[in-house]
Amino acid sequence: KPQMQLKVHITLFGEDDRLIVIQDVTQLKQLESVRQVFISNVSHELRTPLTVISGYLETLIDTGADLAPRRQRALSQMQTQARRMEALVTDLLLLSKIENEGGEIRQLPVNMHDLLLRILDSAKVVAGDKVLKISLAVESDARLYGNETQLHSAFSNLVLNAVKYTPEGKCIDIRWHLTKRHAVLSVTDTGIGIDSIHIPRLTERFYRADPSRHTGTGGTGLGLAIVKHVLLNHDARLDISSRPGEGSCFACLFPIERIREPEVALEVH
Ligand code: ADP
Repeated sequence: KPQMQLKVHITLFGEDDRLIVIQDVTQLKQLESVRQVFISNVSHELRTPLTVISGYLETLIDTGADLAPRRQRALSQMQTQARRMEALVTDLLLLSKIENEGGEIRQLPVNMHDLLLRILDSAKVVAGDKVLKISLAVESDARLYGNETQLHSAFSNLVLNAVKYTPEGKCIDIRWHLTKRHAVLSVTDTGIGIDSIHIPRLTERFYRADPSRHTGTGGTGLGLAIVKHVLLNHDARLDISSRPGEGSCFACLFPIERIREPEVALEVH
């Protein structure tokens, strides 16, 4: 069949025996691609009307100082919901772009120190008045070979989640270090934590550990799905450990082969 897609599973038994299962996944892949195109088109189509609605709402709010308080409240509610929808559409488009790109992305050695500093700055902005102790430890100046835009999306989702789910006065530690086999970016918080039954499903689209706890956190439920796909595109994996009431640790483990030593500037005399 033209363009047939096969998945091959090989299991080894002892020294010589192998069980090889070949699965035809052509239809599954086609369905998946139809789903992706559909989501991407719908999100695109929703973006323009939403921008128009948000624009008019902003004008109405700016010029509505003499409106009755009930009407002002209604407008402000409408603006909050329009912003939520915009965030959803942006994340849906980002997720489908990252899924479509797969591993075929522009990759270069990324300076993690600079990237994490930028993320730290935006985390402080998002935290706003909430006082948090946020620390950044960059223990290696080695570069990570990857796509900077995608890595930025993944790491900032983890850091902004930590900000969202950590109460005032608690800590967030961002750490970049190397082990024998991995380059690790970890975000550890002393926030609300997650019950272990939720952990295996957290990277599914729209999965939220306990929706009733999250009213008002403003998330889209797509952040960790984005993280998962970025990591897949970089041959990396996400390790999650957490205890309710104590905090969580999200660690991105990249194969050590992705590490590049920084170029040494040559001194010319
Ligand atoms: P959301 O937009 O809801 O934050 P995510 O996909 O980023 O969506 O995360 C999925 C769920 O995982 C969240 O709704 C929350 O229940 C849980 N979660 C993620 N990060 C943390 C964290 N640092 N502490 C506690 N719970 C978290």
